[in-house]
Amino acid sequence: MLSIDAEHTVYACVVEFIDKAKVGALLGSWMLNYFGPGVHAAPINIELQDFLCDIMKHCLPRVTISSGYRTPRHNTEISGADQSGHTMGMACDLSGPPDDLEWIMEKCLKEKVPGLMIHDTFIHVDFLPRSFIRDLRKNAAGEAGGIMGKPAAGEARPPLNEGGGGGKSPGKRRRKNGAR
Ligand SMILES: [Zn+2]
Repeated sequence: MLSIDAEHTVYACVVEFIDKAKVGALLGSWMLNYFGPGVHAAPINIELQDFLCDIMKHCLPRVTISSGYRTPRHNTEISGADQSGHTMGMACDLSGPPDDLEWIMEKCLKEKVPGLMIHDTFIHVDFLPRSFIRDLRKNAAGEAGGIMGKPAAGEARPPLNEGGGGGKSPGKRRRKNGAR
């Protein structure tokens, strides 16, 4: 049975569908990396699209989309988080040189992007309102999971992982370290 998590029903996010065949001329060929394997048309949140276009003006060709839209099946195959923003056109992962990723992180904080997860080799940018800012890079002791900064909108958001639902389903498989 289909159910809606009450925690998420207050949100409305504008998403449009983009066609892989048309994307090069409209947005630049870098956007082709947004489409997962076998995907020819994909949803993308308009704010995410604007954000990516802005980033690529400054960071091409150094920065690439290492993971964009994923079908639910593909997301499961790679052990992505349940209800990942990647499956809704709300999130993407960006890879590139540390200086560029640092610049993107600062931009995320300045523009109050709802979700930013910093991994060792890439950053996950998420426009789902339930997202949060988290630094998952390992420190010298090999530990990860520090919270970086405050919730973007200045609200006291609970530290949800990208699995969504705030841990209400203890029986479900859930990634411990958040988004990917
Ligand atoms: Zn991700």
